[in-house]
Amino acid sequence: MRKLDDIASAILEYHPAAEVDVIFDAYFYSAKAHRNQSRKSGEAYFSHPVEVAWNLTRLRMDEKSVAAGLLHDTIEDTLATKEEIVERFGEEVCQLVDGVTKISKMQFSSKEESQAENYRKMILAMSKDIRVVLIKLADRAHNIQTLESLSEASRYRIARETLDIYAPIAHRLGIGWIKNELENGCLPHIAPEECRIIREKMERGREFRTIYVEKVCLIIEDELKEADIEGSIKGRTKQDYSIYKKMIEQNISFEEVYDLIGIRILTSSLKDCYAVLGLIHSLWKPIPGRFKDYIAMPKPNQYQSLHTTVIGPEGERVEVQIRTQAMHRICEEGIAAHWQYKEKTGPHYGDSSDSRLNWVRHLIENQKDIKNPKDFLNAFKVDLFSNEVYAFTPAGEVLALPRGSTPLDFAYAVHTDIGNHCELAKVNGKFVALRHKLRNGDQVEITTSKESSPSREWLSFVKTPKAKGQITHFINAHERERSFRLGREMLENAVRGYGMDPSLLINEQHMSEVLQGAGVMNLEGLYLGMGIGKISPLQIVQKLVPNEVLETRKGEEGSQVKLKEIASFKSTGSSIRVKCFNDDIHLRIGKCCNPVPGEPITGYITRARGVTVHHMDCPCVSDLGGESERLVVVEWEDEGQKDFEVRIHIVAEDKPGQLAEITQVVAGCNTNITRANIKQGANKRAYFDFLIEISDLAQLDETLSAISAIEGVIHVERIKANAGSAHRG
Ligand code: MN
Repeated sequence: MRKLDDIASAILEYHPAAEVDVIFDAYFYSAKAHRNQSRKSGEAYFSHPVEVAWNLTRLRMDEKSVAAGLLHDTIEDTLATKEEIVERFGEEVCQLVDGVTKISKMQFSSKEESQAENYRKMILAMSKDIRVVLIKLADRAHNIQTLESLSEASRYRIARETLDIYAPIAHRLGIGWIKNELENGCLPHIAPEECRIIREKMERGREFRTIYVEKVCLIIEDELKEADIEGSIKGRTKQDYSIYKKMIEQNISFEEVYDLIGIRILTSSLKDCYAVLGLIHSLWKPIPGRFKDYIAMPKPNQYQSLHTTVIGPEGERVEVQIRTQAMHRICEEGIAAHWQYKEKTGPHYGDSSDSRLNWVRHLIENQKDIKNPKDFLNAFKVDLFSNEVYAFTPAGEVLALPRGSTPLDFAYAVHTDIGNHCELAKVNGKFVALRHKLRNGDQVEITTSKESSPSREWLSFVKTPKAKGQITHFINAHERERSFRLGREMLENAVRGYGMDPSLLINEQHMSEVLQGAGVMNLEGLYLGMGIGKISPLQIVQKLVPNEVLETRKGEEGSQVKLKEIASFKSTGSSIRVKCFNDDIHLRIGKCCNPVPGEPITGYITRARGVTVHHMDCPCVSDLGGESERLVVVEWEDEGQKDFEVRIHIVAEDKPGQLAEITQVVAGCNTNITRANIKQGANKRAYFDFLIEISDLAQLDETLSAISAIEGVIHVERIKANAGSAHRG
């Protein structure tokens, strides 16, 4: 087992200014916390955090990360608490431990590739500090080494999860050695038989390959000397896992995997890479299509190298990689190659967003030639760049949604029916509003009900195009149905108004001329036309009802006359648009609720006065109940600034100068007070009732918050209905 000394001296080697006290402290704290625990293998549990800390020194991490590595299982598995960790090791270490704990708690259930990608993105997005991911990788690397003692089922599950999620993350971060350790370590657990064959056959050919590689290396060495190029040449064994992957992907046997022999040449300058390539190609014939220039075109994870495969001595295929020493370091260490420890100052990453920004920027600038820099950025879904949010379904699947998405977006993402019947939402076990904004890692549960259906208000807060589209679709279909019923009701009423029986007069077969005249195909079209106000029931009725009846009933008031009135009134010129009607409509703002631009509104067709516009929540509207057919869609127009009157109620301390101060603040918001009512109450309270003029909701909000900020103001409230103030009076 590795010891504290090993870890401390390892870190001091690459980071001489490291404050190792925190590592000492964490070591003893963790040893004590885990003292009675043992691993499945029978070994003391404490050996695990120590190995994780050791792996972190291999990643050249700072002292706080190494300490967090020692502590990473304490919150989850021992009696230690977050509070204790903060107190003893500080906020930063605690956040690292907490971040690792959060990831460890997640259950990754699905095997689908798209899901795996979401899991990976979620892990990167949740770990606002990239060090959390690295600690988790160090943790997993040790777990994979010690899988043996677990049951076959657990071994398979953990190995699968590691290959699907953690190895690709290591690859994305460019940390070659962790990726290889994870992949090769997992192979015997997911494909024991294939792994055995590969290892056996590799072993059998080892002697031949060793001698062969030595020979090739000597030839290259001579050539380099002659050309006066400095470089180190090494034989390279293909990884077990990449042989396995090749066999599976290309459906070939071990014997058909050719490039088992590999050579790597490290040069001291970029220019030399290409010179060496020329030498190799002049020595041996390159295989067409196998040359790759990842120097001119680095991989998204910053990997740079020249690759070529040649027919070497005795006709064996040899894969050759050529790169500089610096490039090689990045191949192996990835982002860890960018840590820079200077005297006294810490490394160039950490919790302040500034240094993180610089660090990421540095990475990006280093690969200007990259074809698609977005790929690279996407790999670093740190908080700064994250425009997605990841949430769990109850079944453990992860959905990726745009940032700002709500449980309703989530419901629609699961299924349109779940969205359309969404009633309640729970996030992490607690009920939340449907407009609640989701956060990374939230577990969302939706309750549906047959009675629930989309409302126009939903459109004001959903984020995803799918939810918006489906809600609009539902509402339009619903409105069509409503218009149809309203049109039919109006026509039937109009006919009854002449004392006739609608069932006798209204009949598609006998109405073909009337329908044609109205420009519709059938009765349904006629009803719809009337329902949305395009066709006047009066004109239709005049063609349906016999002339003699028309004569006798002339001048009598029927509902069709009222509808004509509606259609002939001029628009008030307010900034409201009625969706279904033509321009000629009389609009009135409801005195009961005084909606202001920006608020959700609905229109109500009154018997005599056209359309009254109410706030969506106005009690007048909800009291209508069965008459909901008379509701029409209205919306605010973007232009046309006009002032609106709003009633506000303020409770404040009754002290001299209070009114003057309030009116001054209101005026400061460019708001006019048109009426004021002041009352003195008990307990040294003063009550102010104001009518103020505002132009939009934003101005109202600004005014209200300015008032509430005044010293002595206890409560500010907008009064939506007259009923409320009457009640108070
Ligand atoms: Mn662990």
